[in-house]
Amino acid sequence: MSEQYDAIIIGSGIIGCCIGYEMAKKGYKPLNVDKLPAGLGSTANSCGIIRTHYSTWDGAAIAYEGTLYWKNWEEYLGVKDELGFAKYINTGCIIFKTEKNKCLKKVCENLTDLSLEWEDLAPEKIKEKMPLFDTHKFWPPRRPEDEQFWSEPSEFIDGAIFTPLAGYVNDPQLSCHNAQRAAEVHGAAFRYSAEVIDIRKTNNRAQGITLKNGEEIDAPIVVNVAGPNSFLINRMADVEKEMNIKTKALRQEVCHVPSPEGFNYETDGYVASDSDIGCYSRPEVGNHILIGSEDPDCDPLDFVDPDHYNKELTEAQWKAQVYRMAKRIPSLPIPNTFQGIVDLYDATDDWIPIYDKSDLDGFYMAVGTSGNQYKNAPVVGKLMTELIVQCEAGTDHDADPIQYTLDNIKRAIDLSFYSRKRKINPDSSFSVIG
Ligand SMILES: Cc1cc2nc3c(=O)[nH]c(=O)nc-3n(C[C@H](O)[C@H](O)[C@H](O)COP(=O)(O)OP(=O)(O)OC[C@H]3O[C@@H](n4cnc5c(N)ncnc54)[C@H](O)[C@@H]3O)c2cc1C
Repeated sequence: MSEQYDAIIIGSGIIGCCIGYEMAKKGYKPLNVDKLPAGLGSTANSCGIIRTHYSTWDGAAIAYEGTLYWKNWEEYLGVKDELGFAKYINTGCIIFKTEKNKCLKKVCENLTDLSLEWEDLAPEKIKEKMPLFDTHKFWPPRRPEDEQFWSEPSEFIDGAIFTPLAGYVNDPQLSCHNAQRAAEVHGAAFRYSAEVIDIRKTNNRAQGITLKNGEEIDAPIVVNVAGPNSFLINRMADVEKEMNIKTKALRQEVCHVPSPEGFNYETDGYVASDSDIGCYSRPEVGNHILIGSEDPDCDPLDFVDPDHYNKELTEAQWKAQVYRMAKRIPSLPIPNTFQGIVDLYDATDDWIPIYDKSDLDGFYMAVGTSGNQYKNAPVVGKLMTELIVQCEAGTDHDADPIQYTLDNIKRAIDLSFYSRKRKINPDSSFSVIG
């Protein structure tokens, strides 16, 4: 007789691995299946930025909770990994005030409510902290093909805030391996190069999965953690049409450029969230700077087929991001050859994820992570396990939403915040900032 599992988790990215780990710790025997070889999903190309500034209170609370796990990653997992461990590097984060983020009013309220430290920075203080920065206001973000991109600014930025608790994880791909090793110690199993092509059901209950090679694996619980492919898995389970919030695969480019001559960005740089130029950035190994788009109105949203899309950096997007960053750092070297990565966000309509059950009993989803949930993976592992335990015990989460208390910061969140049936959340930034 083949192996029996209590749950099948579709996807072995960081969130799938953390759910596997947390479910295994609770006594389930889960199987993670992934269509790719180990460590090649979108997590591998994540920027791994860890920060607590979110436009919504719930977003900020779980990001704070998540940060505390990354700070103690090895202790949290409590295992040995022959490949070593991913490391959290604390840099602090500079967040620019703009009309888009309403001068960070709500963000600062959230930080204060959560007793998180933050400092207000006038333009001259920004310059003291980061002498490379030009503190002019460049708003609104534009692309180089727009003539007005080249006009000289006359005003200065409204200011910024600095959050000391922020940074990045240096190797997101390795962090998946770490979580897998921890899950395995508690009895979880992993299968790679195994593509799910169907979700089988009986009497409105998930029964199991069918793989591309024809193999059928049964389990009473199936969890969709398929990243940018999540909508395809939801369609297989026939649960997409009941969802008010949907997910789509959104193509993204992240550029890597060298630090300005004479400055060690790797040791002295900060994470920065700069909606004045529509870019986020962080130090990257090899004294580089990594630059992503904050999805300003001028950057077209490129929704794609997650299995067929252009994996090369494009000249137009490279120039848009790097030239905008060069406004903030005029000494930024702009190489002729493009370096960086292309990958996909699993984006929802309001850029807030879906952590929920579905109308098919036994079928759950942790999807729509919208480019900003790497930091929350350990917390999502925990809250999804709690949600599954309670729903399987008979709780009607749609009618009577589960309240979940975050272990470290001891604050409760109402999990209907992440419901697939919610209305679009108007407090979202409607961007990767969440
Ligand atoms: C460019 C980029 C930058 C980012 N930067 C940050 C950041 O700085 N900070 C932050 O917090 N977040 C960031 N994110 C978001 C974060 O990385 C994701 O939210 C997180 O990695 C999602 O993890 P996951 O496990 O849900 O998905 P994934 O890592 O995408 O894993 C899903 C897995 O499902 C598998 N799969 C799909 N379909 C099937 C199928 N049919 N059968 C079997 N397996 C299947 C895939 O192969 C894949 O391995 C970024 C994302 C991207 C793309």
